[in-house]
Amino acid sequence: MRTSWGSATDTGRVRALNEDALLAYPPVFLVADGMGGHDAGDVASRTVVDEFGRLAGRPSVTVDEVHDCFERTGRVLRGMFDDGRTAGTTVAGVAVAAHDGESYWLVFNIGDSRVYRLVAGELEQISVDHSVVQELLDAGELSAAEAAASPQRHVVTRAVDSTAVPDPDYWMIPAGHKDRVLVCSDGLTSEVDDRTIGDVLRSYPDPQEAAQALVEAAVRAGGRDNVSAVVVDVAMAARSADTDQTVPSQGRASAMPDDLEDETLPRPPRDEVTR
Ligand code: MG
Repeated sequence: MRTSWGSATDTGRVRALNEDALLAYPPVFLVADGMGGHDAGDVASRTVVDEFGRLAGRPSVTVDEVHDCFERTGRVLRGMFDDGRTAGTTVAGVAVAAHDGESYWLVFNIGDSRVYRLVAGELEQISVDHSVVQELLDAGELSAAEAAASPQRHVVTRAVDSTAVPDPDYWMIPAGHKDRVLVCSDGLTSEVDDRTIGDVLRSYPDPQEAAQALVEAAVRAGGRDNVSAVVVDVAMAARSADTDQTVPSQGRASAMPDDLEDETLPRPPRDEVTR
């Protein structure tokens, strides 16, 4: 399945640090929203990118491989923060998976970053937040409007952190030819409602422009938190004879798995053929 994508992140107007981190490198697209004192949240979210980055460049991944990334991240954080400090991060994302020759979105989530899909022009939220507010919503004790205004709206009930083995949720969804997937941190969804997110995703055919427009909308609306967005499109299937030529030559060498041991993940080309 061929994908094209764009990503954007911003510290916002209030926070001093951007503790969000993102990975947009086929077949994995994710956002991690770090939490913790001092620079700990920053370290936690970057650890996610380092560990999930090991999957970059593969044609597709399995649930077990993604789950291994969660477990490795948890082990690294428990080892790093064994001195009484705690650190944690949300992780939400999508990876390209394959089964019986068909392509799937493997959606994963822990915490309150989100994965949405725009299908036939309609925005649907795929991930379910692990948050106090979501639990109150599920129990019928809060309305959607009350949830949006609740002082507890940023309190997560699950995360990848330095205290416990992570317990993420997974969804496997057949990929449609015209799907567009959005992965974002709560800095977007706490500033911009779903109707506006859908409008922006429908307005910008280019995924990079869409990601930037979403982040700019959140900053304009107040920017009270770090904000990150990754937009992934299923690109039109390339004619098989042209397949290799559709990959931009620029950056292609840096997309090879051998180079991924570098500490700094090379910026990949924005179009990539995955099979
Ligand atoms: Mg946040």
